[in-house]
This record gives sequence, C-alpha cells and structure tokens, in this order.
Amino acid sequence: MHLSRRAFLQSAAALTLAPRSFATSTDTSREPLRQFDYSEVQLTGGPFYEQYEHLHAHYLALSDDRLLKVYRQRAGLPAPGPDMGGWYDFNGFVPGHSLGQYISGLARFGASTGDAACHQKVHELVEGLAATLGPNNQSILRPQTNLWICYTLDKHFAGLIDAATLSKIPNATELLNRVLAGAQPLLPAKGHDRIGKKDPPYDETYVMPENLFTAASLTGNPGFRDLALRYLLDRELFDPLSRGDDPFPGQHAYSHAIALSSGAKAWLVLGDPKYKQALDHAFDLLTTQQQFSSGGWGPNETFITPRRGELYNALSATVDHFETPCGAYAATKLARYLIRFTPSPADTGHADNLERVLFNTILAIKRPDSDGDYPYYSTYSPNAQKVYYKSKWPCCSGTLAQTAADYPLNLYFRAEFDAALYVNLYTPSRLRTVFAGKPLELTQETRYPVEDTIALTVNPAAPLTTTIYLRIPTWLTQAAGIRINGKPAEAAGRPGTYAALHRSWRPGDRIDLTLPQGFRTEAIDDQHANTVALMRGPVQYVALNPPADLTNDRLPLPASLKPSGVQTFVENYQGTQLIFVPLHTIQNQTYTSYFTKA
Ligand SMILES: [Zn+2]
Repeated sequence: MHLSRRAFLQSAAALTLAPRSFATSTDTSREPLRQFDYSEVQLTGGPFYEQYEHLHAHYLALSDDRLLKVYRQRAGLPAPGPDMGGWYDFNGFVPGHSLGQYISGLARFGASTGDAACHQKVHELVEGLAATLGPNNQSILRPQTNLWICYTLDKHFAGLIDAATLSKIPNATELLNRVLAGAQPLLPAKGHDRIGKKDPPYDETYVMPENLFTAASLTGNPGFRDLALRYLLDRELFDPLSRGDDPFPGQHAYSHAIALSSGAKAWLVLGDPKYKQALDHAFDLLTTQQQFSSGGWGPNETFITPRRGELYNALSATVDHFETPCGAYAATKLARYLIRFTPSPADTGHADNLERVLFNTILAIKRPDSDGDYPYYSTYSPNAQKVYYKSKWPCCSGTLAQTAADYPLNLYFRAEFDAALYVNLYTPSRLRTVFAGKPLELTQETRYPVEDTIALTVNPAAPLTTTIYLRIPTWLTQAAGIRINGKPAEAAGRPGTYAALHRSWRPGDRIDLTLPQGFRTEAIDDQHANTVALMRGPVQYVALNPPADLTNDRLPLPASLKPSGVQTFVENYQGTQLIFVPLHTIQNQTYTSYFTKA
C-alpha cells in the first residue's frame, strides 16, 4: 500500500484523535520511550529489507492445507495435502508447534507492508485452527497428542493476539478465550524452571507470561492474568537477577532469555521495580559475560560459567554456538524493551547491542529456500559452514518469521508525550506517523554499513519544534559528523551518546550523518585476550575460504588490512591473500570467525 504523500497526510490527520494500539501500561514512567506501530514504519532498501522481503514471500507461500493437516488429523477432520515433515507432523517431535508463530509473523509482515495477502492468509489459518478446536476447545493440545502443552499454547496465543490486533480478524479475540478455556484443565498448577528436564513431562511455562499479560488486556479475561502471575519465574530467575546474582550458568539459553520478555511485561503491568532491576542486570550479564562478538550466546544451547574460558573452549568442543533465530528473537526483544524502559537514554548500549545482534546473527543466517529446511545453529569454529538444521520445521522456523517481521520496530522510538523522536538504527526506511498532533514523515536513505553516510529527510505537515535524537554508536573511533541542511550542527556527535538536534523542523529539512567505521578486534573472553574477532563498525568480518591452519598463525590484525572492493578487505598471508568479508554476506562459503592476534 503506497499512499501519495498528500493522501497520507490527510489520512494521518484523520487519525490524530484515534487511540493508539492497546495500552501496555497505564503508568508512563515505566515506559518513557515508546515504539511505533508496525504500520508506521516501512523498510525501503538495504540488507535488512532484502532479507525481510525474501522471508515475507517465503512465509506467504506456505500451504494452508499442509500447515493445518496435523490439526485436522487430530480433530478427525478431512486433512488434504502432503505432510509437513520433521517436528511438525502427527508423530513428530512437537506436532503443529509453530503454527501460531507463522500466523504471528504473517500478521506483522502485513501490518508494516500493507500486503492484504498476509492478512488474508492469517484469516484462513485462524479459521482453520478454530475449526479444529472441538467440543473441549483443546484442538491439538489434547493430552494424548501433545506433551508440550505450554510450549505450543504460547504460540497459539501469540498468533491470535497478532491476528486480532494487526490483521483485525474479528473472532480472534474470542478464540483466545476459547483456547484458554480448553487449555486450563491441561496446564500445570505452577511453573518450574525447565520443568521436567529431569522429571518428565518437559515444558516451558515461564516463557508464557508476556503473551498472557497481553491477552489479559486485549480480552479483559482475568484468567490470562492469573496464569501469567502463576508462571512468572520469580524464584529461579527474577529474584536472583534483581539482587545482582547470576542465575544463568548451566541454564537452557533461549528459554531463559525469552523469559526475560515476560519480566519486561511484568514491569509494565505490575510496576514492581524488581523486574526492571532484573532486566538491567540480565542485559549486563549477557553482553559482558555470555556473548560472542556476533551477539550470540549459549554454546550447545547452554549459558556458560564466566571466567573459565568456556567461550574459547566451545570453539573446538562444538559447532552449535548460537540457536540463532530463537536467540535473536529473545535478544532483540530484550534490547527493545530496555530502550523503552530507560529515560532519556544517556548512552547507546542497548541499541548498539541490538544493532550487533541484527547484523551478525539474524541477518547472517543461511536463508530457508527449500521445503522446511531452516537455519538453527550459528557456528564460530574455524573453517565453518552455514547449514540447515537436521530436522524440518524446527522452533527456529517460527521465531525466524517473528524476528524478521519485527525489523521495523527497531528503527525509531518516540519519547512519552512526543517530547522527542529517536533514530535508533540506520537503514533505508520511512516513518509515517502523527507526532505531537501533526502528521510527520521521516525518510532515511543510506548504503550504511557499506558506506558511512546517512541522509534523513524530515517532512512535518507544518513546522514542528522538537528534538530528534541520533544514535552515535560506541564503536566510533572518531566523532560523528552531523549537518543540517548542509551546515554543521551544533550537537556533539560523541560516541556512545544520542546527539540532540533541537529546532523547528520544516518540510524538507535534511540531516546528513557520517559514522566513520573503523576496524577493531574483540577478545573472545577474559581468559583469551589474543583470540579475537574482527569488527568494523557494527559488522563482524570473517576470513573467506581460509586455509585450514589459519588459527595457528598470529595475524597483525587489523593494521595490515587493505580495502579491495565493497566490504572486502585483504591481508597478505604467507604469500597469498586472505580475504575478509562481513559474516552476514556468507551463504555457502567456508569461513573462520576468530583469529590469533600477533
Ligand atoms: Zn530455535
């Protein structure tokens, strides 16, 4: 849907008094920054857009009959079409587990792009799910057919919430109530940390409260809130984190990282500062002790014990270094929640890490271009290759749709009461909103990170006096350049801060931002200072098709690198040239991610 600018300004003006999307909190002090709605932000070019559009088309092309087959089989209904295979089928690992996530992802793609086909498919899949609920409203969750009730139910809730709020499916809200009613007699009385790992049945109750709180506000049904309170992982996760302890070592990485989103929602809804303190500490622990330079964490899906060199050891002990689509979903959501919770952010730490995760994990996956084969683990060992997961339709096939469909949410934020606008991520895009009561369009044109320059054009319907904050990343080794309508701005472009541009903005005002990207190295952990990743700005560079014994040699990185084309750098190495390219540009080649520094 591409409105002319005039039609957009008229329709936006008509919406000025319309309520924003359903409230997440009543107390604005809990959320001093807000994210924009999916419909207000569009990607318009660049690497994220290219991947986003690929995945938009990919999920839109899935067959409804195949997605619904196992649900119809369980309900005793005619079930045409081939099996899905892998985790998804009648006798699969978790039958039908990811249907709700495909619905969620399609609703989000549709909300940002305006693609009616996405909303139509959401409608068909929700109707298809509803037709299988049966007299007890249990659908595929019947105890004799699915041992992972909470795991699958959480995804049903996510899909129905997005179907109701983003695709405006009329009966999706009532279906939430029916699905909850059907599940109630099947659910465990209380949540446990990784329940059943030692004492089956296995399930993950603690990932659920985020969606349960949202469903409570959407339906008004107190049953959702009761369940959210029952399953918040206080004793094992939020209490120790809020005290400054570290409960992560040895825990399953993704499920505990995504449970932090439940803590974020608890902060918004309950207002107990324990949850905010827990999230702040969790972010510090994850980013300073657990993560590789890509932003990924959890080798073999398990958080490491710090200060033992375990990240370094994992390079040779496994090739399963980061459960990427799922982990990236958790990491990007945590960063966005913390950006929203931090008043007048004085530093760019949350956003810098968000950018790191986006460029080097989720953008860096092998694309799912075949039938049910998806990326799962990222590998940071020497001479690695990107491969699909061993089973079709794994968990990561669901979170991939949601993580990519959420890209537009990462770009811009607004201060409460529209006191300021934040430009958080640099990629070609367009923001169209009502800001301080007036229609506003902001466009971003750039080839970043291929080039260092970003052009922003501000188009308010009428002159607008406000502050536009630009993220100046911490990794800069020299000051950013900022010009407004060609003249140097007075704002300081100091690395690690948001540069404040306050003025009366007029239609067509242009901001030119220059972020000089230089190389640096980052040690893998505190025990191995000489084992380093090569970073340029937000992007991790790897050696392309490297010799097998490369990590045994000491390289004078980054001083010896010479540019050799677009995002390509070379180093003379024992008479041959080593080629370094961004990890996210690799698809099928061999690559090495860590080097021994001279
Ligand atoms: Zn996964």
